[in-house]
Amino acid sequence: MSAPKAHHKVVIIGSGPAGLTAAIYAARANLQPLCIEGWSAGGQLMITNDVENYPGFPKGITGPELMKEFRAQAERFGTALVTADVTAVDFSQRPFKVFVEDDLYTADAIIISTGASARWLDIPSEKSLMGRGVSACAVCDGAFFKNEDVIVVGGGDTAMEEANYLTGMCKSVTLVHRRHEFRASKIMQDRVFANPKIKVVWDSAIDEIKDASAGRVTSAVIKNLRTGEKTEIPTGAVFVAIGHDPNTQLFRGVLELHDNGYIKTRPGTTQTSLEGVFAAGDVQDVVYRQAVTAAGTGCMAALEVERWLAASGAH
Ligand code: NDP
Repeated sequence: MSAPKAHHKVVIIGSGPAGLTAAIYAARANLQPLCIEGWSAGGQLMITNDVENYPGFPKGITGPELMKEFRAQAERFGTALVTADVTAVDFSQRPFKVFVEDDLYTADAIIISTGASARWLDIPSEKSLMGRGVSACAVCDGAFFKNEDVIVVGGGDTAMEEANYLTGMCKSVTLVHRRHEFRASKIMQDRVFANPKIKVVWDSAIDEIKDASAGRVTSAVIKNLRTGEKTEIPTGAVFVAIGHDPNTQLFRGVLELHDNGYIKTRPGTTQTSLEGVFAAGDVQDVVYRQAVTAAGTGCMAALEVERWLAASGAH
């Protein structure tokens, strides 16, 4: 086994709003944190064009710009950053071990902020129109499509919630689902059925999103999966609401996870099932999933680490 590359009081895994906020607080508390930021550093905001709901930016800011500022602030107070993915962890004894390929980092405390990834349709043109009408977050991007017709894809609670939310600002919402019944809870379905601005298209999938050459969403081709019939409908946006996957593959069998894969934390705290290991941001939050709530739990995690280290005599 490789000799430890470095020992840190706290190693933060992940660099979205949760991880970098934890880094800012931990660095200012003189914990000299190491943040292993991942190859896709910055998290989901890196694929968000305009952020208009992050407090402090009344004119809005792009997702990548916001994350650049978070990162600069974390570095300013002495956070060390490693741009790579963590490949394995060993939390069976202290100090905790975090591996990046053959490099070993040890830590007295760990903050996990590896986030969640939206599931995508994986069709051509979805990627090129991401942030230009293709979105996985109605709360983030709905306001850009005021008084327009929009599409939501999915049949779970998120799709119901997003469809209802969007009717508050959009002209109409077409809800496209691949089966003839929703998976969502009954109460959420009832709200959708009672909403006159929502039209449900059953047994259907998005076949193509246009118009990549125009650089924005103008229409979508919807395919009926029973008949094969294709219909093109004009739309300003396609909200993909087919679920998220928490990035917890590294922690299966290591920490207690909920059935849906999210990390369990003690209510009102960021403490995981393992003492000294904390989790912040979307990796432990299936409900809010906002940058500002992720940042909030990142702050909580750093404060809890500081107190835990002090109580355990390591700081
Ligand atoms: P879910 O996994 O519950 O639902 C995903 C939906 O997307 C399903 O209807 C599924 O179809 C569909 N889908 C999956 N993959 C594809 C694909 N490739 N193409 C087309 N459709 C696809 O995810 P949610 O995000 O809706 O919910 C996650 C969890 O969060 C749930 O436990 C939910 O209850 C909870 N939640 C609760 C809320 C609340 O209570 N207010 C709000 C939002 C979420 P199919 O049904 O055919 O599998």
